[in-house]
Amino acid sequence: MSLRAKRAPCRRTRAATRGTAPAGKGEATSAAESGFPQAQPGESCAAPGRGDAPRPIIAIDGPSGAGKSTAAALVAERTAFLHLDTGAMYRAVTLAAIRAGLAAPGSPPREDVLGRLALRSGFEVQRAGRRQRVLLDGEDVTGELRRPDVEALVPLVAGLPSVRRALVPWQRRMAEGGGVVADGRDMGTAVFPDAPFKFFVTADLDERARRRCRELARRGVEASLDEVRRALAERDALDSDRPVAPLVRHPEAVLVDTTGLSAEEVARRILDGCPGLAAAGPGFGDGAGEAAPPGPVRPAGRRRAEAAAEGRHSDAPSSDGGDR
Ligand code: C5P
Repeated sequence: MSLRAKRAPCRRTRAATRGTAPAGKGEATSAAESGFPQAQPGESCAAPGRGDAPRPIIAIDGPSGAGKSTAAALVAERTAFLHLDTGAMYRAVTLAAIRAGLAAPGSPPREDVLGRLALRSGFEVQRAGRRQRVLLDGEDVTGELRRPDVEALVPLVAGLPSVRRALVPWQRRMAEGGGVVADGRDMGTAVFPDAPFKFFVTADLDERARRRCRELARRGVEASLDEVRRALAERDALDSDRPVAPLVRHPEAVLVDTTGLSAEEVARRILDGCPGLAAAGPGFGDGAGEAAPPGPVRPAGRRRAEAAAEGRHSDAPSSDGGDR
């Protein structure tokens, strides 16, 4: 089995796996097949830092173009956590399918074939600093994951239950040990339902379309605002209306509306919404980019009790209506 996540061995305490849900039926096989993450020379699962601060999972979901990946990367930098960009994993499977002639515009990908591909293809996710890069058969394909053809087909591929059964256990393995900022569509709802910090990051469609246009222009791709807006709306519909792991806001997730906010401001709101972490020590989450301390993840029961006592998810600064 070559589908593997490269991450250093973690302290696999019971507490360290908090924030993850038990693998569902069918996932155990793929999880077992995917193998444990491999240590890389010089890598450490426990991020560098101070003391005994908690290393929970921060789950960030939201629609395309809302700025969640950029914000997640910033939060990961500030906390010295791993940024787990799960969209990149679905994009990698899509790229592999396109290369193998198994997905093309107008011919919907087949559930059974793609499920096997997701399990068998030579995917690796490696840490590059605190970011991840994606390898396909040893080739770094990170730069290809935003190709327009990948972009167009990824929601169809990601909507296949067999593909999710292959990738979700892998994502959970990468998060073993905690200290992860995970972004995607189903982080808080399906993959890490026990994550103590959940956010739903969104922005209005026009703003998302403008951002996407700017991003495309930077990459030398010309596209009209209308075209981009339409494509985003289509992708939103595919991601939100699918039967498996649809994009929905978890009831506990703090809403962050990024319309009119800079990435820096979004990251700040997320960090402000993680009060237990802010107590970790000076420098944490203050924008200074200092490493947060590693340490054991507190038992979930205790974290939940603390969260409830703090009203963490109900009165966080960027909850409904408070973001603009
Ligand atoms: O986040 P990003 O835009 O890279 O995600 C690409 C696509 O991958 C999404 O439109 C969605 O279809 C799929 N995805 C998903 N579940 C995730 C992450 C991404 O279905 N956790």
